[in-house]
Amino acid sequence: MMPTTEEMRAHLAAIPNVTVSADVPLALHTRFGVGGPADLYAETGSESAFLEALRTAQAAGIPTVVIGGGTNLIVSDRGYRGLVLRYRGDAFEANGSRVMAGAGSELQGLVNFTIDRGLKGLETLAGIPGWTGAAVYGNAGAYGHSISERVASVRFFDGLSVRAFSNTECEFAYRESIFKQHKDWIIFAVELELEPADREELRRAADGIVKIRNEKFPVTMRCAGSIFKNLLLRDLPHAAAAQVPAEAVREGKVPAAWFLEQVGAKGMQVGRIHVADYHANLIYNTGGGTAADLCALIQDLKARVESRFGLALEEEVQYVG
Ligand SMILES: Cc1cc2nc3c(=O)[nH]c(=O)nc-3n(C[C@H](O)[C@H](O)[C@H](O)COP(=O)(O)OP(=O)(O)OC[C@H]3O[C@@H](n4cnc5c(N)ncnc54)[C@H](O)[C@@H]3O)c2cc1C
Repeated sequence: MMPTTEEMRAHLAAIPNVTVSADVPLALHTRFGVGGPADLYAETGSESAFLEALRTAQAAGIPTVVIGGGTNLIVSDRGYRGLVLRYRGDAFEANGSRVMAGAGSELQGLVNFTIDRGLKGLETLAGIPGWTGAAVYGNAGAYGHSISERVASVRFFDGLSVRAFSNTECEFAYRESIFKQHKDWIIFAVELELEPADREELRRAADGIVKIRNEKFPVTMRCAGSIFKNLLLRDLPHAAAAQVPAEAVREGKVPAAWFLEQVGAKGMQVGRIHVADYHANLIYNTGGGTAADLCALIQDLKARVESRFGLALEEEVQYVG
C-alpha cells in the first residue's frame, strides 16, 4: 500500500542530510510565481542522500520531479502530487583550464568563478538565471553561445547507476540535450573545458552583458525569459520562411518574437499575465497571476501563429504538474 504523505515525509526525513517539508507552495520556488503546492519537497547537497531519497519515493510508487532554480518552469495551479527534489551540490573545482561544477550551483556563480580565474568561455552566459544542472539540461545560452560549447563531460544518474557522458553523447542542440529526452535522469555535475584569457576583459564583457540583460529582464520580473524557442530558418515551412524579412534572421534563426509580433502578441494579457509591450516572446506575471491564465495565453499565442504561418511554436519553458 502506498504510504501516506506524512509517512513518506518521515521516511525522507530519516535520511541524513535531507531536508523535507510537506505541502510546499511551488509558487515560492518559481520565478514566475505561479503554481500550487507540492505534496512533498526535499533537498540535499549530497549525491548519495539525493539518490536514497529518490529511491525511497520511487519504491513507494510516489512520482518524483527534479527542479533547479525554478526560473524556467510553469507549475500548474494544482501543484504536484508527489515529491519535488532539488539537488544542491554546488561545489566548484578548477584544474588548469578544466572546471568542475555541481549541478546545484548558480550558473552566475560558475561564470564568476571562471572569470576570477581568467578562464574564457562562459562570460556570454552572464546574467542567465538558474542553476548549472538545468543550464546543461536545456543547453542554456545567449549572445550566440551555449554552455554545450564548453562541456567536456556530464555526470548523471540514469535511473540505474551514476555515469558520465562526453559532450557528443549529450546530443546537444539549440536549447536541447539528451537529458530533455530522459526527464527521469538527474544531472549531478558538469566538467567544462575553458581557455586562459585576460580576467579584466572577461569581467568587462560579462558586466556589459548583465547591464543589457537587466534592462530587458528587470531582476524582480516574474517571468521565465523567453517562452518559446527561436526557429531555425532552414526548418520553417516554405510559405512561412518566404514571409520572414532577411533582417529578422540572426545566425540562421528567426526569433519566435518576430512571428509573435506579427500576430499582435505585444501587450496582450489574460488576467494578471501579460506579454511585454517591448518584447513579444516575454510573458510575465504582474503579481497574483495563475498558471491557468499563463497557459491560456500561451495556447492563444500558439494558435495565432499556427493559423497565420502554419507553424507550431515550441515552448522553451518546462511544465511541472
Ligand atoms: C529573466 C530570465 C532570462 C532568461 N534568459 C535566458 C537566456 O538568455 N538563455 C537561456 O538559455 N535561458 C534563459 N532563461 C531561462 C532559464 O534561466 C534557463 O532555462 C535556466 O537554465 C533554468 O535553470 P533553473 O535552475 O532555474 O531550472 P528550472 O527552471 O528549475 O528547471 C528547468 C528544467 O531543468 C530540469 N532540471 C533542473 N535541474 C536538473 C538536474 N539537476 N538534472 C536534470 N534535470 C534538471 C527541470 O526538471 C526542468 O525541466 C531565462 C530565464 C529568466 C527568468
